[in-house]
Amino acid sequence: MSAVRMEGKALAAAIKEQVRHQAEQLERRPGMAVVLVGEDPGALAYEAGKRRDCQQCGVYCDTFRLPETTSQEELLDVLQTLNEREDIDGILLLLPLPGHLDTRAAQLAIRPDKDVDGVHPSNLGDLTLGVDGLRPCTPLGVMRLLEEYGIDPAGKRCTIVGRSNIVGKPQALLLLQRDATVTICHSKTPDLAEECRRADILISAAGRPGLITADMVQEGTVVIDVAMNQGADGKLCGDVDYPAVEQKAAYITPVPGGTGPVTRAILMENTLRAALAHGTQPG
Ligand code: NAP
Repeated sequence: MSAVRMEGKALAAAIKEQVRHQAEQLERRPGMAVVLVGEDPGALAYEAGKRRDCQQCGVYCDTFRLPETTSQEELLDVLQTLNEREDIDGILLLLPLPGHLDTRAAQLAIRPDKDVDGVHPSNLGDLTLGVDGLRPCTPLGVMRLLEEYGIDPAGKRCTIVGRSNIVGKPQALLLLQRDATVTICHSKTPDLAEECRRADILISAAGRPGLITADMVQEGTVVIDVAMNQGADGKLCGDVDYPAVEQKAAYITPVPGGTGPVTRAILMENTLRAALAHGTQPG
């Protein structure tokens, strides 16, 4: 058996097209601010990607490139200004920040209704309580991929490898809300292979190339690879041994072209959602 390949790229294109279409109907374009402090190469590439996504979706994008020497007070001032700007619906603070800056304080300074990354404690609290709000993009993207392929998590055993605040934990809560039975694994889990074998839906977000091998996957499992690693050959790869696992899984996401593009599309959708909440009415 060869698994159905879950085409994140195609789903992302459809989501972005829908955002563009809806954004066009509004009297004011949704607006996103991207804040980047310093010269981290990963963050610089990410910023360029965000600008492209915004352009494709008809979202206004304002980029703030602050020098490496920016003080905490200066950063908080910029965020406060963006909180007050009516043309900005979403604020994306790119990480990592230079070491002298307090990341948590900066994230807390972003107004929850503009936190399109869904990382503010207020939004994560709402997620925990099951209250509507902005959700972290990657886990929400995984839910959308499942939906796209008609996979209902209700009653399924879902194993998540990784317990980070931006992927593993919110993923568990979203699945729980959809009536899945969820297991979260991490680096101290004694028998990872056994936990994975129990899964109907296996989601890996460990950031370890080759971690998930075919013997850890039962026949017919849905395998979602969230990780974005640099392989030994320098190419982008996930956690899953794709060629071997593909032979056993029912569905599988590729890397690249799986969860990554969907995450980016959901960020655009969150920005549109924030704009609608800010009262940008259809024109
Ligand atoms: P993170 O904060 O480093 O968390 C990694 C998690 O994996 C931790 O909970 C860690 O356990 C666990 N882990 C690491 N090695 C393990 C092992 N051998 N066995 C079991 N668990 C293990 O990473 P993250 O920010 O969540 O990101 C995870 C991966 O997803 C990265 O590759 C990242 O690039 C990728 N990512 C992709 C997207 C996307 O759009 N697709 C978005 C965000 C992140 P401990 O807690 O015990 O250390």
